Amino acid sequence: MHDKTIAELAQGLKNKEFSSVELTQHYLDRINASDLNAFITITDEIAIKQAQVADQHIASSQSTTLTGIPYAHKDIFCTHGVKTSAASKMLDNFIAPYDATVSHKLNQSGLVMLGKANMDEFAMGSSNESSFYGAVKNPWDTNKVPGGSSGGSAVAVAGGLSAFATGTDTGGSIRQPASLCGITGIKPTYGRVSRYGMIAYASSLDQAGPLTKTAEDSAIVLNAIAGFDEKDSTSVDTEVPDYTQNLNDSIQGLTIGLPKEFFAEGLDDGVAKAIMAAVKEFEALGAVVKEISLPNSKYAIPTYYIVAPCECSSNLSRMDGVRFGHRCTDPTDLEDLYLRSRTEGFGEEVKRRIMIGTYALSAGYYDAYYLKAQKTRHLISNDFKEAFKKVDVIMGPVSPTTAFDLGSFKDPVSMYLADIYTLSTNLAGLPAMSIPAGLSQKMPVGLQMIGNYWSESKLLNIAHQFQQQTDWHAQTP
Ligand code: GLN
Repeated sequence: MHDKTIAELAQGLKNKEFSSVELTQHYLDRINASDLNAFITITDEIAIKQAQVADQHIASSQSTTLTGIPYAHKDIFCTHGVKTSAASKMLDNFIAPYDATVSHKLNQSGLVMLGKANMDEFAMGSSNESSFYGAVKNPWDTNKVPGGSSGGSAVAVAGGLSAFATGTDTGGSIRQPASLCGITGIKPTYGRVSRYGMIAYASSLDQAGPLTKTAEDSAIVLNAIAGFDEKDSTSVDTEVPDYTQNLNDSIQGLTIGLPKEFFAEGLDDGVAKAIMAAVKEFEALGAVVKEISLPNSKYAIPTYYIVAPCECSSNLSRMDGVRFGHRCTDPTDLEDLYLRSRTEGFGEEVKRRIMIGTYALSAGYYDAYYLKAQKTRHLISNDFKEAFKKVDVIMGPVSPTTAFDLGSFKDPVSMYLADIYTLSTNLAGLPAMSIPAGLSQKMPVGLQMIGNYWSESKLLNIAHQFQQQTDWHAQTP
C-alpha cells in the first residue's frame, strides 16, 4: 500500500480494497519499525480517530480525493493540542493552542495526520542535522543526509512512512530534500499559501508546499492548502485554479531556459549528466531549449544569508522564556532569565544566525549589510523578470551534489554554499519545483523547474508530462 500515490490510494479507498483505518495502521506500523528518525511526534490516537471518521464519510459517499489519506506534517505548523516544536529544545514543551491555516485546511479535507515530521531547528539548515531530536537518515543510504530543512517530511514520503508530507521552503527546504530523497516537491509563489500559524523563520521568504511521490499528487495537495487567508497579510487574494485540471496539456513548443550560471564550476558531473538527460527528454516532448543568464545569481548566497538571519533575529526574539519557549530554572533576575533561557533553548546554528542578524541590523551596520542585501535582492528578481520575457520555464539542478554524508560539513559556510541554486527563487518570491530526474552513483538527482509568478499550474503540467514519459519518480530506495 505504501508504494501507492494519493490518486491510487483514493481509488483503493473508494473501491473498498482497504479502509482508511487499515491504511493508517499500515503506515503507523512502518513508522514504529523505522529507524530513520523522520518523526518528532507520532499522533497515533488522532490518526486512528481521523481515519474512523474518514471511513464513515467514504461509506456515505461524502468523500473527496484526500479523505482518509495519511500524511506527515512538518513540525513547524501549529497543530491544536499537539506539540509543535520546530525541532528546537526551545519549544520542546509547546502545545499549540490553535491550528495553522494549513493544518486547518488539511483537517477540513478529511486527511489523517500520522505525526509531526522532524526538521532542522527552526528550519535552519540543508541537512536536517540541526534538529534537537537528532539527525534524520536518508532511506537511499542511511549514512547520508536527507537534505533540509524538511528532511523528516521528505524521508516520510521516500521511505514509505506516509502518503505525502507538508514542508516549508525559505531558501530551498522543500526542493532540496525532495531532490536528495528522490521525490517531488513544489514551493508555490510567495503569498499563495497562508503562513498563519507556521512558526516564522524569515517572513519575507517562507512559503509552505507539499512533498509527494508525483506531480499529480502535488497538484491534489496544493488544491487543498492554497488560497487567500485574511489572517495572513502577505497572502494574496487571487483565484486558486484547480491544479489538477491542466496536467495533461501538451508541452509542445514550451521554451526552457538553462541559466549558464547553474551549470558552472562546482556542479557535480553525475548531477549535470542527469539534468542534461532530463532536458533531452523535454526536447523529445517538443520543448525548445535556450541558454539564458541570471547574472546576479552569484549574489544569492550572501544576500540570502543576510536577509534570512536579519528576519529570524527579529522573529525569534519572542522565544524569551516569558512569552514563548523554554525557561531556565531559578533565574536571579530578568536579564539572567533571558540570557540563560535563550542560551539553553537554542542550538548552535540558530544562535549563529540570531547573532549575524542582530549585527547586520544594528545602527552602525544596517546600510552596509541589510540595505545592501535588499538592493541585491532587487537585482536578483530583475534577472528573472528579464529571463521570463524569453522563456516559459527555467530549468537546472536543485543541488550541486547528491546527498552528502552525515556529519561531513564541518563549517557552516560550506553548508550554505550547497543552497546556491535554490535561494534566488525565494528572494524573488517565484514558484519552483523539484522532480526526480535520475540517479548518480545510486543516489537521486532532482531537476529544478522555476516558473513565473502564479505559474504553479504550468509547472505541475510540465512535471506531470515528464513523469508520464519517465519512471524516475517511481524508483524507491
Ligand atoms: N538551507 C537554507 C537555510 O539554512 C534554507 C532553509 C529553508 O528553506 N528553510 O536557511
